[in-house]
Amino acid sequence: MTAAEIRQSFLDFFKEKQHTIVPSASLLPQSPGLLFTNAGMNPFVPYFLGVEKAPYDPPRAADTQKCIRAGGKHNDLEDVGYDTYHHTFFEMLGNWSFGNYFKKEAIQWAWELVVERWGLPAHRLHASVYAPQPGDPGEFDQEAWDIWAELYRSKGCDPNAQIVNGNVKDNFWMMGETGPCGPCSELHVNLTPAGDPMEGRLLVNNDSDLCIEIWNLVFIQYNAEVDGSFRELPAKHIDTGMGFERACSIIQGTKGFTDFSNKPSNYATDVFMPIFRKLEELSGKTYSNIYPALGADRSAFTEEMKDAIAFRVIADHLRTLSFSIADGIMPGNNGRNYVLRRILRRAVRYGRQLGFSGDKPFFGALVETLVGEMGSVFPELKNRQDTVRATLEQEEASFNQTLDRGLKRLAAMLEEHNGNWHAAHSLGHVFASDFKANELPGEYVFELYDTYGFPKDLTDLVLAERGWFSKQEGFEREMKLQQERARSAQKSTLVRALDISTDVVTEFVGFDNDSVEATVLEVHEQ
Ligand code: ATP
Ligand code: MG
Ligand code: MG
Ligand code: MG
Repeated sequence: MTAAEIRQSFLDFFKEKQHTIVPSASLLPQSPGLLFTNAGMNPFVPYFLGVEKAPYDPPRAADTQKCIRAGGKHNDLEDVGYDTYHHTFFEMLGNWSFGNYFKKEAIQWAWELVVERWGLPAHRLHASVYAPQPGDPGEFDQEAWDIWAELYRSKGCDPNAQIVNGNVKDNFWMMGETGPCGPCSELHVNLTPAGDPMEGRLLVNNDSDLCIEIWNLVFIQYNAEVDGSFRELPAKHIDTGMGFERACSIIQGTKGFTDFSNKPSNYATDVFMPIFRKLEELSGKTYSNIYPALGADRSAFTEEMKDAIAFRVIADHLRTLSFSIADGIMPGNNGRNYVLRRILRRAVRYGRQLGFSGDKPFFGALVETLVGEMGSVFPELKNRQDTVRATLEQEEASFNQTLDRGLKRLAAMLEEHNGNWHAAHSLGHVFASDFKANELPGEYVFELYDTYGFPKDLTDLVLAERGWFSKQEGFEREMKLQQERARSAQKSTLVRALDISTDVVTEFVGFDNDSVEATVLEVHEQ
C-alpha cells in the first residue's frame, strides 16, 4: 500500500463502523496552555468535558490530525534525525467515541484493522495495559487485559507473552498538565528479525527502534484540574491515536508484514522519499538510510552519518514549518512563534552540512515538492503555498547573513575558553568544579543568542558535534536580566500570526517567552 492508501484504509475502516470523517483541525490549538495541536483529541476537548454536544450521529468521528511535538509536555525535537520514528510534525490517525462505545469496541476494532484487515501477525503485536503504582491515579486495567487476552487466544497466542503492564508515564495519557485524560492501552510492533514475543516484550517502551509503539487507545474518564486533582467526567469516551508515518513505515518496510529482515523507518517511505529526492537534486549528495546508535558520541560521526541526519532534520522541519505557516503560525520572537524560528534556524544550520548557504538556499524548492505531495490531502497547504514559500525564503536568507559570523564567533569562544582553562590549570588554579574544559560558559551562549540569533538548542547542537556542552547557569541569569530590562522599558513582545482569511500578518502583544496568550494590538501588511 502507498501512504495515501494506508491513510484512506484507516478512514474507510472507521467509516464502515459509522464514524463521521472530519477534516484535520488547525495546528493552532483551541485549548489554552498548548503551544501546538499535539494530539488528535485536542479539537474535541469540549465534547469530552460535556460543555458541548458532539454534532455526529452516532457520536463517533475519525480523521487524520496534523500534530506538532516540539515544546511543552510532548517534545520530540531532540530525537528528530537520530531515530527512525519521532518527528516534530506528524499525522495522527484517530477514532473517537463521545460518550458512545467504550473499551470493548475500541480494542476489538483496533485488532480487526491491524490484524485482520492489514494482516499483521498477532504474535508480533504487544498490547500494554495500565498498571499503576501506589499513589498513581486509577487502578489496574483488568478489563482491557481480559479483552486483549481473548483476542490473542483466538489466534493461538499466549496472552501472558504478549500483554505488557505499563506505568503511569506510558499508560496514563495526558494532553498537557490539565485537560481530559485517562488510562490507555497501546499497541507496539515487534520488529526483531525473529519476532520472538519474549524478546519483543522486553523492548516495549524501552526506546528501541525494534519495537515501535503505533497506536494508543485512551479511555478518557477524568479531567486533570489546575490543582493537580483528577475529576471524574460526566461520561466515558474513546480517544485513539495512530502514528500515520509509523504505520507506513511498518507496512512498507516489511513488504506488508512478510519480511522482517530489515529495520523499517518512517523516513524510508513514500512520505519522505520525494523530499529526499529533491534534496539530493539540490545538494548533489545522496541520502543513506543509516542511523547512529542510541546515545552515540556526536563528535565521532562520519560525514555520511552527518549527511543522513541532516537530510532527515531538514525534511522534518520543512513539514513542521510549512504546515504551521499554512495554519497562520509565523516564525517570530515569542512563544510558539519562537519555537518555529528555532526550528527554522536549526534547519538552516543542518543545511550547511549538505553544502547549502546564502548563495545556495533550499527551502523554496522544497516547499514546492511538499505541496505537490500533500496539497491534495491538506488543501490549506496548497492555498497558502506562496506565503509559506516567501516566509521561509526570507527567514532563510536573513539567518544565513548572521550564521557565518556566529559560527566564527563560536569557534573563537571555544579557543578562548579552553585557553583560559589550560592557563589556569598549568598554574594549579583549577580546583573549582564550575570551571571545566569543553564546557562553554552560559554568558557566551547568551551572546550567541542575543547578538547572532542562535537559539540555545542550536548552540548546544554545534557544541555536541565538537564534543562540547554548554553551561545553563550564566545563560539563564543573562536572559532574566534582559527580560527585566525589556519589562522596565515596557517594550512589548510581539507574537506573530497570519490571518488566514486575508493573508495579512498580525502582530500580537504577548508577555514573555512562555506566554501563549495574546491580545490583538496592531495589524501590519507584510
Ligand atoms: P512515543 O512513546 O513513541 O514517544 P507517545 O507515547 O509519546 O509515543 P502518544 O502520545 O501515545 O505517543 O501518541 C499516539 C501515537 O502517535 C503514538 O502511538 C505514535 O504512533 C504517534 N506518535 C507520537 N509521537 C510521535 C512523533 N513524535 N512522531 C511520529 N509519530 C508519533
Ligand atoms: Mg513520546
Ligand atoms: Mg509512548
Ligand atoms: Mg503513547
